[in-house]
Amino acid sequence: MNEHHPNDAGPPAQHSPTEHSHAGHSHHEAPRAAALELRVRALEQQLTAKGYIDPAALDVLIDEYQTKIGPRNGARVVARAWCDAEFRRWLLSDATAAIASLGLTGRQGEHMVAVENTPQVHNLVVCTLCSCYPWAVLGLPPTWYKSAPYRARAVKDPRGVLREFGVELPPTTQIRIWDSTAEVRYLVLPQRPAGSEHLSEAQLAALVTRDSMIGTGLVGSTALGDATDAIDGAP
Ligand code: FE
Repeated sequence: MNEHHPNDAGPPAQHSPTEHSHAGHSHHEAPRAAALELRVRALEQQLTAKGYIDPAALDVLIDEYQTKIGPRNGARVVARAWCDAEFRRWLLSDATAAIASLGLTGRQGEHMVAVENTPQVHNLVVCTLCSCYPWAVLGLPPTWYKSAPYRARAVKDPRGVLREFGVELPPTTQIRIWDSTAEVRYLVLPQRPAGSEHLSEAQLAALVTRDSMIGTGLVGSTALGDATDAIDGAP
């Protein structure tokens, strides 16, 4: 039995623990990460005390990379797939090449797999052993993605986790869990919101959130309302 992937949440993820290799770091990552975090915090405190940095400014900077700059790349990929059926097929059959064609390459994006949400299937991405994440399309991973509770509970109780993110799926929707590794990083292709036919590719990209590409969010009608307001209000 694959202890990292109880199969109660849909089909097993594609990698057994023995295959789940994380190049450059061992599976005893957690204590080392905690030590590193302590060192970073100590350094930050010293620099703050000496007046070299402003922690609030650092937070803003990190937030920019986590929620704005990084995920915008993935949002471009999603919007292109929504608008261009040929690109969508390419993305689902060879995500690495399709994503590279938009100029998005680099570390932790070498082997990408795109998984498509439908009314029948919802995809959720986790790295059960550490924090493997598609940097090239999503930027920095959010803190919760690296947290032990998310990594454990996404597999054991995906519906409960999704509910905490404000995502309530119909009971008939199957949830598939994808376990990111050093070799394979996943990008969720969210469902295009109903009523978005009039939006341009750029406007659609603006609707796509980071969480919707991890599977902990949906691209919903609320966002669509905002986009429509923005368009209506445009000069
Ligand atoms: Fe990992």
